[in-house]
Amino acid sequence: MAIQQAAGIAQSWRTNRAQAYQDYLDDLLDYHEHQTEGTLEEGSQEPIWKEWDVPTLRQTCIQANANVATLEPSHDSTFDYWLQISTLEFRKPLLVPVKLAAYHKEQITDPKTGKVRKLNTSVQLNKREDGWWLTLSYDETIKVQTEPDAPVVGIDVGIANFVTTSDGKHYGTFHGKLRERQKRDREKRRRKAKLRKCLEKKGVQKLPSTSNKSGKRLIRHVRQEINRAVNQCFKEHQGCQFAYEHLSVATMKHKARAMNAYMRAANLAHLPEQIAWNAAKRGVQATRVKSAYSSQECSMCHYVDRANRPNQQTFCCRVCGYRAHADLNAAMNIQRRVGDLALQACKDRKAVKSLLMQRHEAWRKQHGWP
Ligand SMILES: [Zn+2]
Repeated sequence: MAIQQAAGIAQSWRTNRAQAYQDYLDDLLDYHEHQTEGTLEEGSQEPIWKEWDVPTLRQTCIQANANVATLEPSHDSTFDYWLQISTLEFRKPLLVPVKLAAYHKEQITDPKTGKVRKLNTSVQLNKREDGWWLTLSYDETIKVQTEPDAPVVGIDVGIANFVTTSDGKHYGTFHGKLRERQKRDREKRRRKAKLRKCLEKKGVQKLPSTSNKSGKRLIRHVRQEINRAVNQCFKEHQGCQFAYEHLSVATMKHKARAMNAYMRAANLAHLPEQIAWNAAKRGVQATRVKSAYSSQECSMCHYVDRANRPNQQTFCCRVCGYRAHADLNAAMNIQRRVGDLALQACKDRKAVKSLLMQRHEAWRKQHGWP
């Protein structure tokens, strides 16, 4: 089991690294294009590739299937289940008693039939600070109920606004209270590190711990806020279908410059997942579209240029002069990318850019633009 899992982790690490390297090559190409055209932004530097660190195992997580661990209802004790874990010794399994809280019982009971759902045979065991946690799961099939011609709402995700829709609504933000908390947390960690160093010099044996509980709490809190924002967005757009972007490493980097790596990893990637999950559980159609140039393309005339973004919040087209909140312009582009077969067929960012510029030329002709 452990080897199987390690192989899975190694594989996904390789895939992510390859994706990041491709993003870097795209960035590099972009940079050299601008350089030859002489349109390089002042102060912009050639992108540099930094080799990734090999991941290390910090927390034990056992993902076990029925060959290794089985959960059986208990009939002869006050516990609800017995978790039977196979060991290397023949016929000497570990028997772990499991008692569920009322909340958990409710979660695995089907409200329609009042019966406990059929649990999946695979379970997950995670080692946390306060002991081992058992994760149970069940499958539920929900049919997509969205009408094929339901209006499409484009979703742009970011830090300043967790969710911006193509009809101009914003949901949730990392700014304000959450950012304040992050700053306080960082200060606290700095002070603690300083204190540790000081005590170490003095030869103190028992140093204060390096664990960061408030940081973990903050990450949980940000996730809750993201969930709330996505939920609200779905509630206010009943009868619609959604379009959202696939977040590449490069887009995440671009969107989250102000955050530290830990927060970045924990949160931005969580947004598309939340959108997909919310759509699935409600039976709503949500389509993932290409993200390339969604923030640089003008949603009116398709002109693509980094200079269309004079600052983080503003979009202002250098050709047609269209002006909007930058997230709104991106959301409108994402909305239109559903069913855009020509764009889906593009192999890389370069192909996307040349397609968009072709459309821009067509727009010019159509509007008699000089
Ligand atoms: Zn324009």
